[in-house]
Amino acid sequence: MIELFDEGLHSGLNLALEVGKVHYRDKTDHQDLMIFDHARFGRVMSLDGAVQTTENDEFIYHEMFAHVPILAHGSVEKVLIIGGGDGGAACQVLKHKNIEATLVDIDRTVIDLSIEYMPSVSDGAFDNPRLEVVVADGCQFVKDTADKWDVIIIDSTDPHGPGEVLYTEEFYGDCKTCLTDGGIIVTQNGVPFVQPDELRTSYDRLNDLFVDVSFFMATVPSYVGGPLAFGWATDNVALRKVSTGILAERYLDAKIETDYYSPEIHQASFVLPFYVQKILTAEE
Ligand code: SAM
Repeated sequence: MIELFDEGLHSGLNLALEVGKVHYRDKTDHQDLMIFDHARFGRVMSLDGAVQTTENDEFIYHEMFAHVPILAHGSVEKVLIIGGGDGGAACQVLKHKNIEATLVDIDRTVIDLSIEYMPSVSDGAFDNPRLEVVVADGCQFVKDTADKWDVIIIDSTDPHGPGEVLYTEEFYGDCKTCLTDGGIIVTQNGVPFVQPDELRTSYDRLNDLFVDVSFFMATVPSYVGGPLAFGWATDNVALRKVSTGILAERYLDAKIETDYYSPEIHQASFVLPFYVQKILTAEE
């Protein structure tokens, strides 16, 4: 009898994955965690019934999440990752040899089991001396810290459960106080075709705080419903307009290897389809 993992994240639209070997299935202190094998995606991690990351398509998400802000900025020294307990974003950030990173995740069990059962995602990031790991609520962390970062990556679950606080204007405001001048915040902002309200809410809240707010997109096969949106917020309007030529120079200087990110895709990812633009400009 084949077991189906049934992700009912969006009403009327379910992702059903045939479950192979189950490596872990239990409640942590904060969320339901499952890690299982899938014939096409490899190891899959879900939290509270929603796919978080899979071995075989995580590169798309984590490469875009890390390299777009870092290469657009051009002189990043410090990156803060809120969430990201699977280590995928940290792995990509640390490919940039001059960057120090801090990762703040509320759930130590996610980190530990990601290392144990999905090591290819973090690929040694958690052993890297340039990474500081803090187990805490990201919302409280940014309120309390006096430190500052050039890029803040909000790699959170969707806005329910422990992740809900990571979509509030208060949290975005506290993140802004942790940004160096001209720094960039990027967010995991869901699939606009099935989560239009999440996109518009983040857009409005970030627009209250930053001069330049937009999104860049990429299709992650295990995130059902179409292309995913990454939120972009900064007070330095020039950063979203960095030329492909400059991005290409920086990409070469960084000496990093990628399987999805390229300077051309970086630039193109900010071109929003009309249906997404209409979500952002619709009269409330
Ligand atoms: N790529 C995934 C997605 O698009 O939904 C996100 C992956 S990552 C596993 C999400 C992480 O957010 C989890 O490790 C979870 O523990 C963490 N998280 C949720 N709420 C949090 C909070 N309030 N503070 C810090 N981390 C949080």
